[in-house]
This record gives sequence, structure tokens and C-alpha cells, in this order.
Amino acid sequence: MISQTRDIVQKSLDALLEDESFLPEVKGETRKKAFTSLTSILSTPNHVHKSYLRIPLEDEKVVRIPAFRVQHNNALGPYKGGIRFHETVNEEEVVNLASLMTLKNALHDVPFGGGKGGIILNPREYTEKELHLIARKYVQYFSDVLGPDKDIPAPDMGSGEREMDWMMAEYKSIRPGMPYRGSFTGKSVVNGGSLGRREATGKGVFFTFRYLVHDFLREQKSLLTKTDNVFAKTALDFEDRPLTISVQGFGNVGSVAALEAHQSTHLQNKVVAVSDRNVTLFNSDGLDIPTLVEFTMKNKGDLPTKDDQLKEIGVKAEIRGREEVLYLDVDVLMLAALEDQVHKDNVEKVKARIIVEGANAPVTTEADKYLSDQGVIIIPDILANAGGVIVSYFEWLQGRETQFYTEEEVFNLLYDKMKTTMDTVLPLFFGDPFPLRQNCYIHSVMKLSTVLYRQGKLY
Ligand code: NAP
Repeated sequence: MISQTRDIVQKSLDALLEDESFLPEVKGETRKKAFTSLTSILSTPNHVHKSYLRIPLEDEKVVRIPAFRVQHNNALGPYKGGIRFHETVNEEEVVNLASLMTLKNALHDVPFGGGKGGIILNPREYTEKELHLIARKYVQYFSDVLGPDKDIPAPDMGSGEREMDWMMAEYKSIRPGMPYRGSFTGKSVVNGGSLGRREATGKGVFFTFRYLVHDFLREQKSLLTKTDNVFAKTALDFEDRPLTISVQGFGNVGSVAALEAHQSTHLQNKVVAVSDRNVTLFNSDGLDIPTLVEFTMKNKGDLPTKDDQLKEIGVKAEIRGREEVLYLDVDVLMLAALEDQVHKDNVEKVKARIIVEGANAPVTTEADKYLSDQGVIIIPDILANAGGVIVSYFEWLQGRETQFYTEEEVFNLLYDKMKTTMDTVLPLFFGDPFPLRQNCYIHSVMKLSTVLYRQGKLY
């Protein structure tokens, strides 16, 4: 997984080194040296912080829980990235996720660098009181390296506004009298969070898909019909026809993306399958997403796993194994659960022609190549799932100004920002033979390289 990000960054750097219209003032040996510096800067994090949080549990046992904060790069602004609460967290994963944040912020012109945190635990195995202590200890252990102008965490898998509220409160008590609202984003609205932050990533995920197959396709149809680009053919096949969608993961990102798809007035699409760590629910006529969202809200995030439960809430669906969501005969697959879900051993079973990466790195390098060779369009993580960090940026700004936007203003600002990025990368994507991921990486790497060069960091 980590090598995937590195490989694409390196490919982008190699292409830019050859392209003398990029940074034309840097020539010859100096150019080679500058690009060697870029490789080392972008392929390694600035800092990896690790601590063992000492937690007395309610049953009086004491545990030491490993926790990380990785600060990848801050050339564009303070480090920024979520804190994951999950049992599979490991250092390599956190480093890779931090580097994706650097690239994501560069791609969308968000003035933040890349960071990420992780705590190795299954939050379901801890009481609320214990989780509160874990969140506070995380801030105590890492308080020297965090702060509104240094490193700003946010929620990630397994964490949410409750944890961010706890963490901000702890930060505030450790640094009395200092600005604190911008120290964490993804907080509850009452604690200075932004309206729309919770829905931002899922909404952005659906927006990137809708924009590509609807708005952009309509506006730029002549561009797409003129080229013999294989991805243009795939996109044109999506024009003005009913579409089926399946969504892996029904948490913060997946459930909102599914709801957006269900409610979309732009597209004739139906969500035929959703899944979580227990099940896939399937209905070829489309699932009742609002009722399923309501069910998960009352049941600790879990989808129904039994026919009785489905009957009780009036949802018609077949219960299938959790992996089946990946292999259904659908037009679109939205991946909103974990990394590495589509890989070399299962990629041949995937039938969707468009894949949208709501999760970070859910498609491995081998699978990505296989799918791209077949003309499958993959809307990559750094493009599709940036809604969260974009609205986090709005939250950070609102916290500084103590002026708050309406929900409508937040979503309009979000869509404007994502539209600007899509309008930058899509014409290039349909004009050359590279997958969209490669286009996005080149764009990010160009921005980072230029900034690092102008900051005098490439020697
Ligand atoms: P979340 O609320 O914790 O939801 C994760 C979902 O994935 C849950 O439905 C979970 O099911 C499901 N899941 C877990 N393990 C699974 C498995 N093995 N197979 C199928 N489903 C599985 O997390 P989230 O915030 O939506 O984040 C999802 C992904 O999006 C992560 O990769 C995260 O890094 C990425 N992301 C999130 C944001 C954000 O703002 N939240 C921003 C950018 C990227 P259970 O409920 O049964 O555990």
C-alpha cells in the first residue's frame, strides 16, 4: 500500500523532470539534484511520533495502548489529518495515510500539510469513560506537537465529533489562554464545529461521481466524443441512463454517499447494495436507504443482519456475505470502508465500470492497473474523499473568525472547491492515456514541487 503512493509520486516526478516547461529556470545538474531532493522529501514523513497511552480500565486492569501521530509534510501549511481508532492501525499505514493527506490538500488547494494519527484499539471493546480517557491521554502525550498552527487532527474511522470535543477540551486545559478552536476539526457544532462537516466527505464522494458523469459530461461532450481515450468511452456509456450503485461501508462516508445517491435528482440511479463489516444487503429494485440510515443510528452503526430486523423496519433486501458487495453486476462501486479491499486476488470478480474511492487506498496497485487497463474509471481517494478536509478547513477558518456559515453556504463552498479541482484535472484526464489517479498525483506533485522550490528546500 505504501509503495503504491510512493510509486505514483515517483512516476509523477520522473515525468516532471523530463518536462522542461515545468520549473524551466531549474536546469541541468541543479534540476537533477532538485528532483532527487523532491523524491526524498515526498517519500518520507517529517516526523513519526509514537506513544503508549497508559489507561486504567474500569475493571481496574491497566493497559498501554499504542498510538501514533505522523507529520508527513507541512510545506503548504499546518499538518492536517484524522485520528483513526481501529484495531488494524499500524505505523506504515499511518505514514501512508499522512502522505495521502499531503497530496490531497495540494490537489484541492487547501492550505494545510499532511498528517495522520492512529490508536490501536477496537473502540467497541471500551466503555465511554475509557474512551474519554484514551482521547484525553492522546492529547496529553502529543500536546507538544499539536496546535491550530502546527498540526490539526480530525476524526477518522472509529472516531467522530464526540472524540474531537473531548480532545479539544483537553488541549484547551493544557494550554490555558491560547487559541484552541482551531486545534481540532470535526467537532460538534455547539463546540465550534462546522455545519455540514459530518456529511462533507460522503457528499463530496457522491459529488465527484455525479460531476463526472453528469455535469462535466454534458458540458464537455464534444471533447469526449472526439478522443479515442478508453476512459472517455466508459464515461459516455454512463450518459442519461439508469445506473446501479453498490456501496461498501455504511459508516460516516458510505451512508452519506448512499443517501446522496438515493436522493439525487441529477441522475437516475438506485443504490442496490450496501454493506458493513457483517453483511451485504441487496435489492435489485433499489434499497430504502433513509430507513437503513435510521436503523444504523439506533443500532450502534450496524446494518440489519437478520430477516426479522428487515421485516420490522419494512426494508426489502436479501442478506448476503459482506464481500459480495464488491462483485455485484452494477455500474458503480463506491468503496467507503477500509484499505486494500480490491486486490490482485479478487479484482477479476469486480464488474463495476466506475469505482469511487471514498475510503483511502481501497484499491491496491495491481488491482488498479488491471482495472485501468480494462477502461474502468477509478475516481481516486485524493480526489473523491477530500470533502472532509475541505470542510475542516472551513471549520478552522470559522473558528478563527468566530463567524459561522450556514449549512447551505458550507455545501456550496465545498462543491465550488471540488468543481474547481475536477475542472482542472478532468480535461487532462480525457486528453491523455493516464488513469485519473496519475493525473491527480501529477497535479499535486507540481504544486508541492513549486512551493518547495520557492521555499528554497530543494538542495
Ligand atoms: P466509519 O464511520 O467507521 O465507517 C466504516 C464503515 O466500514 C462501517 O460501516 C464499517 O462497518 C465498515 N467496515 C469496517 N470493516 C469492514 C470490512 N472488513 N468490510 C466491510 N465493511 C467494513 O468510518 P468512515 O469515517 O466512514 O471512514 C471510512 C473510510 O473513509 C476510511 O478509509 C477513512 O479513512 C476514509 N475517510 C473518511 C473521512 C471522514 O471524514 N470520515 C474522510 C476521508 C476519508 P461496521 O460499522 O460494521 O464496523
